Amino acid sequence: MINHHELDIRLRDLKVELAHATLVAVSKYSPIEDVIEAYKCGQIDFGENRVSELKTKADIFQEKNFSNVRWHFIGVLQTNKVKDLLKTPNLWAIHSVSSKKIVEELIKRESEFTGIELKLFFQFNTSHEAEKTGFETIEELQESIELIRSLKNSKLKLFGLMTMGAIRTDNVLTDAVKCFQKLKIIRALLVKNYNLELKLSMGMSGDYKEALEEGADFVRIGSLIFK
Ligand SMILES: *Cc1c(COP(=O)(O)O)cnc(C)c1O
Repeated sequence: MINHHELDIRLRDLKVELAHATLVAVSKYSPIEDVIEAYKCGQIDFGENRVSELKTKADIFQEKNFSNVRWHFIGVLQTNKVKDLLKTPNLWAIHSVSSKKIVEELIKRESEFTGIELKLFFQFNTSHEAEKTGFETIEELQESIELIRSLKNSKLKLFGLMTMGAIRTDNVLTDAVKCFQKLKIIRALLVKNYNLELKLSMGMSGDYKEALEEGADFVRIGSLIFK
């Protein structure tokens, strides 16, 4: 099991470094015991990339009445998993809304969600790598944004944009910065077109410092915390 004291120090140091940005502790490779330790250190935001694993952990947290927790779904989302995802207790945000099809399914299944508001980050594939999901064009993205904005009395809230740095490159950090800058440009365009506010979810263990420099509001860090 993870050492509570070391975990506490790592989380504290990260929080100082992150300042106003929110730390999403990615617990996808961690056993539930380690996630509970992190919660006991005061960490409340956790990210998971598989619906079934998220559901299992979220159910355990609910049984223990750890009700401050805020679950973030960060993985590839398939339409047939949307219903189960929405049923997850204390689901706070989905960072990986990646197509109009997914948006339509979220709208169709909205009544499964038991919370007050579900924050949606639209994922943009800034590196255009084939293995990544996400919107590929501004037009597609705008179409889905307009769809969400047309809803009345919906719990689905357009909250931000998400991206990941390029992986197939020899210059990982330089190219990550380019991806983050692209996302910022897209945000500026959307803010201008729709007069709205959008948070940025970008940066992982290897590139969160660069993401913070570029103005990330949410960073998703796994291996650095739960090593
Ligand atoms: C796994 C994962 C992370 C965290 O990755 P680390 O390198 O372990 O920090 C962040 N975002 C997404 C979408 C992930 O799948």
